[in-house]
Amino acid sequence: MNAFTYYMPAKVFFGRNCIINNKEAFCDLGKKALIFTGRHSAKINGSLKDVTDALDAVGIGHVLFDEVEENPSLETIEKAAGIGLAEGADFVIGIGGGSPMDAAKGASYLLANPGMSAEMLMQEGTYKHTPIAEVATTAGTGSETTQYAVFTLHKLGTKNGATQKAFADIAFLDAKYTESLSDKVTINTAVDALTHLIEGYTSKKANYMNDRLAESGLAIFAECMPAIKAHDFTPEIREKLLLMSTIAGIVIAQAGTSLPHACGYMPTYEKGIAHGRANAIFTRAYLELFPDQTKPNKIIEILGFDSLESFNNFLKSILDPKEEFTEADVERYTDTLIATPGKLALHPDPLTREQVYEMYRKSLLVY
Ligand code: NAP
Ligand code: FE
Repeated sequence: MNAFTYYMPAKVFFGRNCIINNKEAFCDLGKKALIFTGRHSAKINGSLKDVTDALDAVGIGHVLFDEVEENPSLETIEKAAGIGLAEGADFVIGIGGGSPMDAAKGASYLLANPGMSAEMLMQEGTYKHTPIAEVATTAGTGSETTQYAVFTLHKLGTKNGATQKAFADIAFLDAKYTESLSDKVTINTAVDALTHLIEGYTSKKANYMNDRLAESGLAIFAECMPAIKAHDFTPEIREKLLLMSTIAGIVIAQAGTSLPHACGYMPTYEKGIAHGRANAIFTRAYLELFPDQTKPNKIIEILGFDSLESFNNFLKSILDPKEEFTEADVERYTDTLIATPGKLALHPDPLTREQVYEMYRKSLLVY
């Protein structure tokens, strides 16, 4: 059995009204919170009110930054941190999907190190960060239980994971906030979580404990598949999807994401393809790359399909149709990915340019 270390320090509160019922948990984090949200959803789904009610009840100050865009940029992190520093905030709370949750992680460094630029989040170096609380309102990224944050780098024309990595101290998971999600965002984000389970399970860093969690997450996804297909998102299904995505976050916190995520970032930047759907486009060809099909077969079995092809057909049936891609896109994406070997590092076997090219070609032009 492979040796492994298991580290997931976020304290997770799961269940209805978990914020108000555990409001004292904020008291260990600081005296004034810089709260991150997107422009609209947190004000509508009750999450922002629950957080500010809880903070008010325990006498903690707060200031709101509600301008986090989807796939947040480094510029946004800097703007928010400037406000937080001016207001004397000493910890952060991210409320939303992965975008506000990641923005909060990024800004936690800039608040703890006045003068630090957001660009430095992408560089080596040891920096401290302020305490972090996260409230997930999509069931997808699992950012509340990962140490990752993903930012848009306009200068490079893509997205990248930050080098600086920070787990939340506390994470709140109340599925009632996800009830206001559109069917489309519900499905795209559920598929993001599914790809986390698949990529973590097949990563070079997979380990026994993580694999059992990944299998349990896949089984929960399988239970939700009929509802996903029928767009029948009951509160019970939403709770299962949220649990599945948090489990998937724990899985990638240990084992990382792999090629589908690496491949998806450029199409997301260039064509605005939702993150989860971008990963799904590459999943079939990714699983076909494995000379040993034991794990791909296990995934198919747990999900209840008879082949990778029928799994891919299911994904296509629940997601928007694929955009048009060209041979030139395939060549360009292949060259860019090959030039960043770190993005291939979690694949168990070394990959040739030809294999990466084929994965892109099949994903974008054939399947
Ligand atoms: P998101 O970008 O945070 O939000 C997508 C959309 O959903 C926004 O329009 C948002 O509106 C809306 N929304 C969020 N919660 C809602 C709710 N409860 N009801 C109605 N609408 C809601 O989506 P995401 O897919 O969760 O996050 C994607 C980001 O996370 C990407 O940048 C991705 O790279 C990153 N990511 C991070 C990790 C990690 O481990 N850190 C892992 C995977 C992906 P508002 O803007 O109004 O809130
Ligand atoms: Fe993801």
